[in-house]
Amino acid sequence: MPDDRPSELLPQFPILGQPVHLSNDYVSWLLDRLQHGIGTHVVTMNAEIVIYANRDPELSSIIHNAQLVTPDGSGIIMALKLHNVVQPRYAGIDLGEDLLRWAGNQEQYPVFFYGGKPQIVQQAAQKWQTELPNLKIAGVEHGYLDAEAESKLLRQIQATQPKIILVALGMPRQEIWIRDNFHLCPQAIWIGVGGSFDVWSGVKNRAPQYIRNLDLEWLYRILQEPSRWRRALALPQFAILAIAERIRGQDKAH
Ligand code: UDP
Repeated sequence: MPDDRPSELLPQFPILGQPVHLSNDYVSWLLDRLQHGIGTHVVTMNAEIVIYANRDPELSSIIHNAQLVTPDGSGIIMALKLHNVVQPRYAGIDLGEDLLRWAGNQEQYPVFFYGGKPQIVQQAAQKWQTELPNLKIAGVEHGYLDAEAESKLLRQIQATQPKIILVALGMPRQEIWIRDNFHLCPQAIWIGVGGSFDVWSGVKNRAPQYIRNLDLEWLYRILQEPSRWRRALALPQFAILAIAERIRGQDKAH
């Protein structure tokens, strides 16, 4: 009997109308699909994306169609907790690193790095090539291309058929770009990794573990990049809406 298990999606829970998939082992689920030749668009969900998507039907539709939406931000974990759903946080950068470490021992699963500033994406890819000498890198391209260079990039991606495509263009550009180009490599994992290349290249620091354990990685990012404060306004807004959603649910139950 054919094994069709990997095509099944993980259970999901809606947070303010946006789905989040639940699992204790996203990587095994993803790799199972990859090894069966089934592609996956991964969206790494946080409070800011939920707020944005609720105002932007295009992004909302992309998220609803993504085969995997992971709980990237601590706001998502908090909102799940309000509904008694216990789910550990899995940051997009950690998922990216876990996939790279796995691919580092699998020559038939080449990786593509796309996005970020020219030197940064080179440094990020170099870091991983040094750490994982057997990692097969199908290509490295920065995220500030003109239309002609982007068409060339798309031809390169189609020709090399990478199996893991890391896209760092920022939200929502990376999600839209993946939706538009997924058909070029329908067997690959496509994941928007935001500022991960900046961290891997060494130009930005990731919050230390004790800050992450306090669920304050978002605050650390604002302190490191004060220009992000405006984007952070989505966080209290999300918290208020998530609590209101929970209270409304409780009222309905009584
Ligand atoms: N970026 C890019 N092309 C653009 C705009 C942004 O490659 O036209 C890159 C930028 O250099 C940075 C990443 O996208 O590396 C966005 O990082 P950010 O931390 O803002 O990600 P987000 O939190 O929006 O997902």
